[in-house]
Amino acid sequence: MSERGKLIVVSGPSGAGKSTVVFKVMEQRKDLCFSTSVTTRSPRPGEVDGREYFFIDPERFQQMVEQDELLEHATYVSHSYGTPRQFVEDKLNAGINVVLDIEVQGARQVSEKMPEAVKIFFAPPSLDELERRLTSRGTETPEAVRGRLARARQEYAEADFYDYLIVNDDVEHAAAELSAIITAEHCRFHDRAEILRDRR
Ligand code: ADP
Ligand code: 5GP
Repeated sequence: MSERGKLIVVSGPSGAGKSTVVFKVMEQRKDLCFSTSVTTRSPRPGEVDGREYFFIDPERFQQMVEQDELLEHATYVSHSYGTPRQFVEDKLNAGINVVLDIEVQGARQVSEKMPEAVKIFFAPPSLDELERRLTSRGTETPEAVRGRLARARQEYAEADFYDYLIVNDDVEHAAAELSAIITAEHCRFHDRAEILRDRR
């Protein structure tokens, strides 16, 4: 039986540690891939075009929206972000699980189109720790840090839309929880009922 991949939507405040944890799990399991989004924001030091994001200009972004090339898209702290549709569909069809690291508006759009998506909210242990992580990452101006902290409060207000909550206190522990969720989702009876078909 060839199983379709799971679509895993990961959201939570910028700086919660989503990419750190997702990339840690990808080192451990080969059935998982990351959907690289397009964005109109500038690369941070160390970010590579095509790895963290495809960095594109607002004109190209608008063109992708008009040509329906994006599964979802949203504005976050004055920049546009979107998920290229084709990559996600190809991987799911090939049985690979796909992680989308997207904010809440995008998660809602994905959930409308693909209700089977698994939605996981990442929280830092506290807002003070979030501020410390955002500051120590050293990639944001103080103004951008303030914008992200303000946005974090809005995101918490919508967090009960998600299926799972991971508190990223410790990277290893959070990675183990993310991996366990993916494994459990593949054990759902509905997905595996075919296995018992000839035995009943
Ligand atoms: P996000 O993808 O949610 O924006 P990042 O993965 O970039 O967040 O993490 C933000 C910062 O916090 C990075 O400097 C990262 O190294 C650090 N970080 C991530 N997880 C933890 C953790 N459990 N404990 C301490 N620092 C962490
Ligand atoms: P950052 O600029 O810190 O990398 O990301 C800012 C926010 O944008 C994060 O909450 C991240 O999850 C979200 N984001 C990244 N890519 C996408 C995307 O393709 N679509 C949506 N809706 N949000 C995204």
